[in-house]
Amino acid sequence: MQIFNEKQQNLAHRINEDTTLKNWKDWKWQLKHSVKSIDKFELVSGIKFPADYRKKLEETLEIFPLSVTPYYISLIDVDNYENDPVFKQSFADQRELITNSSEHSDPLAEDKDSPVEGITHRYPDRVLFHVSNICSMYCRHCTRKRKVGDVDFVPSKAQLEKGIEYIKNTPQVRDVLLSGGDPFMLSDSMLDWLLSEISQIEHVEVIRIGTRMPVVLPYRITDSLLEILKKYHPIWINTHFNHPREVTDSASEALAMLANAGIPLGNQSVLLADVNDCPRIMKKLVHDLVKNRVRPYYLYQCDLSEGLAHFRTPVGKGIEIMESLIGHTSGFAVPTYVIDAPGGGGKIPVMPNYIISWSTNKVILRNYEGVITTYQEPDSYEARACDRDCKNCDLDLKMQPSKEYAATGIEKLLSDYDDSISLIPEGNERYERRSDEDNG
Ligand SMILES: *Cc1c(COP(=O)(O)O)cnc(C)c1O
Repeated sequence: MQIFNEKQQNLAHRINEDTTLKNWKDWKWQLKHSVKSIDKFELVSGIKFPADYRKKLEETLEIFPLSVTPYYISLIDVDNYENDPVFKQSFADQRELITNSSEHSDPLAEDKDSPVEGITHRYPDRVLFHVSNICSMYCRHCTRKRKVGDVDFVPSKAQLEKGIEYIKNTPQVRDVLLSGGDPFMLSDSMLDWLLSEISQIEHVEVIRIGTRMPVVLPYRITDSLLEILKKYHPIWINTHFNHPREVTDSASEALAMLANAGIPLGNQSVLLADVNDCPRIMKKLVHDLVKNRVRPYYLYQCDLSEGLAHFRTPVGKGIEIMESLIGHTSGFAVPTYVIDAPGGGGKIPVMPNYIISWSTNKVILRNYEGVITTYQEPDSYEARACDRDCKNCDLDLKMQPSKEYAATGIEKLLSDYDDSISLIPEGNERYERRSDEDNG
């Protein structure tokens, strides 16, 4: 397998004439030579920007800094860089300076849902743990864009301990998702310590890591890293490929190493205008992913973060892409398309509609071909009332009554054991007009 192609070799020599394949494949060398200025970007990539264009770019970089690994630069098609999906994801665009009123620096309210520094606790049974503030490449479409690079800090053990303490004291957390920044920017020894601390917490059942390293710096996936990860199974990893061009031999090798270490792999793509907003590109991407044992997990609608307007597509584009995947290709190659609710409601799945109509005994559905069909509901189905006390139930798994499993949201409305019949938005005027005894 050719890992150091001629283009990469030329590029590496522009950084330093003595660069060897061993240097190139050393992730620390890649980080040390990360490109952070326009001059260096021109030197390394071989692209020359027009002078007037450069001035606007300088202004952009003052607000949103640049950082790209030489490896990721080597994937850019220099002769057609303006249309290049790798270039667009990694290099500044003056349109980043345009913000509009619906955009925010923290559109998902991750800071508001943060009980202690570094933790976002949004869902009942899992937390997001920001364990590093830096990445090996600054994605231009980053949802945490305003935070990236302001302080290049890797949290100390003492800072991480606050998050660990919170998880220890919160027994409903069974899934800990390490994010950042990129958790693999931590040193091996720091990761070893962190994973060991978290995995010792009795109620934590799985640890997940969100990392873009297989895409932007695949050489970070080393044997020594795998030796550490393997000690703390079950470890799940989600990565972030957006375009088939990113699935290189080096990326494939990194993915194979992770999969061979027994780590289930998923991918979270972001739908980006002029990068991957095309059913054919997306289908090729999901096929390339499953060939590499990576299951497409989410396709994200681009968030309302500042400076991302030029990346956003209408939701309809996402639905169109989902329509082109569901039924047309393997079920496990189809991601869930989600919109992360502005203001912090979490991820909301959106799909084409497949249920066309419904009566008391029939459901009318359509398939991906447009064939309309009827599903006959069962004539007799005895509903089983559930009081969350499994003692009298004829199903097999007897579970303890437990507060942690209290239903919320729509699940609560559907349940038998809770009398709520509606969810009323706060400040609903009609309810406020009612006298107190009528309330509830
Ligand atoms: C995405 C996310 C998670 C994980 O969500 P899953 O749907 O379980 O993958 C957890 N916490 C926060 C704050 C998130 O944004």
